[in-house]
Amino acid sequence: MVDEETEETREYVIPPGGGVPWMDHTTKESHRPAERDIQITDVSTMVLQGNFQWGIVAVETDAGITGYGEVHGSGPQELGRLEGQNPLDINRVRDIMWEPGPGIETALWDIKGKLLGVPVYELLGGKYRDEVRVYCDTHGGESLGEAQSETVDPREIYTPESYANAAREVVDAGFDALKFDLDVRTHAEVDTANRRLDNAAIEHKVSLVEAVREEIGYDVDLGFDLHWNFTVETATRLAEKLEPYDLAWLEDPVPPHKYDAHRRVREATSCPIMTGENLRNPGEFKEILDAEGMDVAAPDPHNCGGLRNFRKIATLCDLNGVPIVAHNICSPVSTVAAAHAAASVPNFVALEYHAYDVPWWEDLVTRTGTDRPGDVIENGSIDLPEGPGLGIEIDMDVASEHLVPGEELVE
Ligand code: MG
Repeated sequence: MVDEETEETREYVIPPGGGVPWMDHTTKESHRPAERDIQITDVSTMVLQGNFQWGIVAVETDAGITGYGEVHGSGPQELGRLEGQNPLDINRVRDIMWEPGPGIETALWDIKGKLLGVPVYELLGGKYRDEVRVYCDTHGGESLGEAQSETVDPREIYTPESYANAAREVVDAGFDALKFDLDVRTHAEVDTANRRLDNAAIEHKVSLVEAVREEIGYDVDLGFDLHWNFTVETATRLAEKLEPYDLAWLEDPVPPHKYDAHRRVREATSCPIMTGENLRNPGEFKEILDAEGMDVAAPDPHNCGGLRNFRKIATLCDLNGVPIVAHNICSPVSTVAAAHAAASVPNFVALEYHAYDVPWWEDLVTRTGTDRPGDVIENGSIDLPEGPGLGIEIDMDVASEHLVPGEELVE
């Protein structure tokens, strides 16, 4: 029980759903130099409409430094218990936040880097690489909605030629790693509930993969995504047929939390099986690693709880000999934040870029100290920013053009 004398001076974290207060997060300021004794004063967000909604988070401090981060969608960003907290105590502040965390955590790394005058990767232990490799999410054919109407044969839309052409364009743009969706339909009418593909559907998918390999060769890392759609037997039949094409990964063949099902697919094929974008914390990654359910891990630096969790997951994966290909559908703010974390772990392979079709994506930020927009990703990689914090600044003129109706710019 809480001692009445100390109740007012301590901050206890109540676990979600209640329970007995136990963690005491009171800190003593006696060893904090005055110049580092700063406080969070405000939290605000603006939601931008890209190919997804990007919630840009701004955390203000009484030191005149503002940090930026990002959440998927709009998500509430309450000042709440953050007010008055020292933003430099990132782990402790992260511990007292249940939701939402990742965007604010990124902003705290940005604040700390700006205050200390160092890039975020420096705060994360330094870098293994100067450039962070990026893989491009790539699409052949027309919009999925049209193809899923019952009047059009999807095979007329998702053609081998459309896949090959899209791959060629992305490779010519400088990427040496890319991914396609492979869970496109084959028949106008198909029973999707049973999660099974017939032989014609499998042959269609093989024809798409074959066409891409014929176009771009085998020197490009090539992945395909199945979006959790299939049974073990279907995923296995398909994966075996894809083995000659030396894929870098086959992603999410079966539903995300069926760890034994992942293991069974893995054991039945030499195609590397990747999963992880739906897993939300290091504990879930430990479970699937213990189940030997993946060859390649795809943590999303923000879905998995933030840069701190991403690094924990990377360590777990490293201990199990599993490389990281990070999922990412964010604006440049979160993408650059993810790049700092990706540079700081040894077992990183590539970071996703999911906005090839958003022409203003790169224009949203400039590198600190330059007025140059549009140089976040060049030749398929991110040259790690060396400015303080994330090393980028948001162009508010660009942001203002893409605000979701009713949203206001953050400061
Ligand atoms: Mg995916």
